[in-house]
Amino acid sequence: MKLQPRILLILVPLVVAPLLLLSWVAYAQLRKTAEEKTFQQVDTVLDQLARQIQSELQSTEANIQLFANSPLLVRYLTTASATERYALIQPALMRLFHSYQRAYPDYGEIRLLLPNGDEDARVTTFASTTPLDRAADAALLSTFAKTQSDIDSMFVHGNGGELMLVVAKRLLFRDPASDPTTAPPTLRGYLVITHQLGALREQMVQYHDNLGAVLLVTDPGRTALSSEPDVATTPDPAIFTVLKQRDGQHVLGSYQNAAAYFLAHRVHPGLYAVAVLPEYLLRESMQGLTTAAASILLAVLVITVLLIVFGLRVLFLTPIATLNQAVRAFGQGNFIVPIGLQRHDEIGTLAESFRRMAKNLQRSNEQIRHVAYHDSLTGLPNRHMFREYLANVLNDSIRSKQRLALLYLDVDNFKQVNDTLGHHVGDKLLKEIAKRLTHCLRNETGRIDAAPDAAVDMVARLGGDEFIVLLPHLYESQDADIVAQRILAEMAGPFTLDARDFHVTSSIGIAYYPENGSDADLLIKHADIAMYHAKSSGKNNRQFFTDALRQATDTRYQLEQDLRRALEQNQFVLHYQPQVELASGRIRGVEALVRWCHPLRGVVLPDEFIPLAEETGLILPLGRWIIEQACRQAREWQDAGIDGVRLYVNISNVQLNREPVWELLAQSMQRFGIAGARIGVEFTETSMLTAPGHGVELIRRLREHGIAVSLDDFGTGYSSLNNLRRFALDSLKIDRSFVFDVHQSADSAAIVAAIIALAKSFNLAVIAEGVENTQQLTHLAALGCDGVQGNLFGEALCADDITELFLGVGSGSPAELVRRYVS
Ligand code: C2E
Ligand code: CA
Ligand code: CA
Repeated sequence: MKLQPRILLILVPLVVAPLLLLSWVAYAQLRKTAEEKTFQQVDTVLDQLARQIQSELQSTEANIQLFANSPLLVRYLTTASATERYALIQPALMRLFHSYQRAYPDYGEIRLLLPNGDEDARVTTFASTTPLDRAADAALLSTFAKTQSDIDSMFVHGNGGELMLVVAKRLLFRDPASDPTTAPPTLRGYLVITHQLGALREQMVQYHDNLGAVLLVTDPGRTALSSEPDVATTPDPAIFTVLKQRDGQHVLGSYQNAAAYFLAHRVHPGLYAVAVLPEYLLRESMQGLTTAAASILLAVLVITVLLIVFGLRVLFLTPIATLNQAVRAFGQGNFIVPIGLQRHDEIGTLAESFRRMAKNLQRSNEQIRHVAYHDSLTGLPNRHMFREYLANVLNDSIRSKQRLALLYLDVDNFKQVNDTLGHHVGDKLLKEIAKRLTHCLRNETGRIDAAPDAAVDMVARLGGDEFIVLLPHLYESQDADIVAQRILAEMAGPFTLDARDFHVTSSIGIAYYPENGSDADLLIKHADIAMYHAKSSGKNNRQFFTDALRQATDTRYQLEQDLRRALEQNQFVLHYQPQVELASGRIRGVEALVRWCHPLRGVVLPDEFIPLAEETGLILPLGRWIIEQACRQAREWQDAGIDGVRLYVNISNVQLNREPVWELLAQSMQRFGIAGARIGVEFTETSMLTAPGHGVELIRRLREHGIAVSLDDFGTGYSSLNNLRRFALDSLKIDRSFVFDVHQSADSAAIVAAIIALAKSFNLAVIAEGVENTQQLTHLAALGCDGVQGNLFGEALCADDITELFLGVGSGSPAELVRRYVS
């Protein structure tokens, strides 16, 4: 789940729940207030109604007071003579009453009652003669009797159920004729006005608005007047009882089969104004409020959520997205993305950290790039960078149709320097060479570089002792040659390392674009091939890539393929060349020399394939095969009863460096059951020095097991006396190049003499190889050589031939030669 919905999920309920609660409370409060207000309004309506009725009552009471004081009425009641009273005064009184009625049409009846309650006189507008239950009169009068009040009134139902106000006044007069002035007035009768209240209904209908009904109810719960057309609807008597007790308060009950609130006001003892407010009406009036409240709440909620979302975005999400983008850009190696977010809060701090991180990353990225693109020893661009640069420059050259040249440089015999003088000297030498190469290019080279932004020369170290130079924008072919010669000359000067002077040379191969290829890898490869050619052409020179070279390379490739197949198809054989002991003239050893029986070319000599086998690593399986084959042969000779002859095996320095030679030998010897006395090994001096542990341990072991160790090609390497002393060897083999003219050249003779003297001082036997003639033999014998090997005594022969030689079957024995030419 993303951060935004997650935060919203947490935050929104936290905010919304209290908000809902709060708004519910507010709503409830509001609702209550609104309800109360409604009830208050209803109350006001009732109050107004009550006032109106009261004012009717008051005006009727005032009128009755007024009527009661009319002199005619007084005279009528105080007249003692019945005749005068009824015959003379009554008609006038009736007229008076009629005039009252005209003035107050609501006064349905004006009556005069005698003190005993009998009706004495009456004017009426009622159709019926007894509109009113006469019992009401009696009730009124009995109330009168109790209260002693001057005026009394009551609300009653007419016989038709209509509401009427009956007001009565006690008529107390003193008879001016008979009564003394001090005597109290006596009760002469009652004046009673029946006031019809039907007109109130109109008023009530007006009040009726927004209400169920407005009623006037008499005790004990009979509706006297209703704002509704149907008078009969009456509140539940039980409710009425409660209403009476709780004057002015609302009570929930039922009206016309629906829930309704009732509110009552006592207008008069025995008359109540009642308002009916059906619940659905109240609810309806609340509905607006509910809708308004809900809309407000919804609006607030929406705004709140929007604010939260907005706040979230501004405060967190947008910054996080920005940082995320920045990190992604960092991941893609772009460290200069503007992050912004300059804020004084945690996000601002985080952004600052990111900026710092970007800076650090950029720095380390540059460092990594530098490391990735530069050679750590010399600081020059490495193969990787060179290749990229060359590819770019080549693109430019293809577009601008310009030539360029590659100079592939390899230091001659660098390996020997490294092996004999140690890696630290080798490293120093490489650094110096790098400096000189850079210097060569910085110096004006006779070339004119074009625009300032044009590609410039580059020197790179490809690895080991191999360097490469790119010369872009070549105007003349000779330019590259001039540079190459300058480099060769520069390299020829002595290098002073550890206070000693060293002389090194180098070989350079040159390839051109477009003549020798238009692809970076191909050009490098061709320059490399040209360099190899320079090596094989005697080193310390430069060579140009040619098609002939390409062919040679192809041949070499073909040879490699053939060599692989030869191993698989067992096309190798071992030949054996005898070594003759001069003291006895006997064959004391044979050197195993490998031959390749090529199906098309016939016998191929090792000089043609051993270097390639070493280069490609094929020497390892081949070397293993040679060791095994040699041991097998030694066993055969052992079985044939040929003793006292050692079989010498040449061990390549590649094999020595990469395989446990001792274990291989021991295994094969064990397998064929031969003793160490039957085996010897030939190492070159250089291979001894580069072997792990400098070969000292290996030699010790070999000799411990009776295996003879011979140092091959002696005199050609960086020989040192120290090495000879350290390696507990059996013999030295003087290289063919010294033997070749030992009988003709005083120098060679001197060297051979020195080597023999040296070997003797270390108690080593000396064997001369490549002895081809008897003069050489005589000379070597005179110089004190112990053994000889060479065509004079026989070339390397196949196993069968050499076995015959041992057994004395063949012709020409070495002993014969020795006897004749060695004195
Ligand atoms: P090397 O170890 O110095 O072997 C002696 C070489 O001198 C042999 O050449 C041999 O045939 C040659 N030779 C002997 N007597 C004469 C002579 O009187 N005149 C001339 N001109 N040459 C003579 P080959 O067999 O062609 O071997 C050449 C090199 O190949 C060997 O030099 C050795 O370095 C390598 N090689 C030969 N066989 C093996 C092998 O089985 N294993 C390894 N690792 N290298 C071998
Ligand atoms: Ca050898
Ligand atoms: Ca040799």
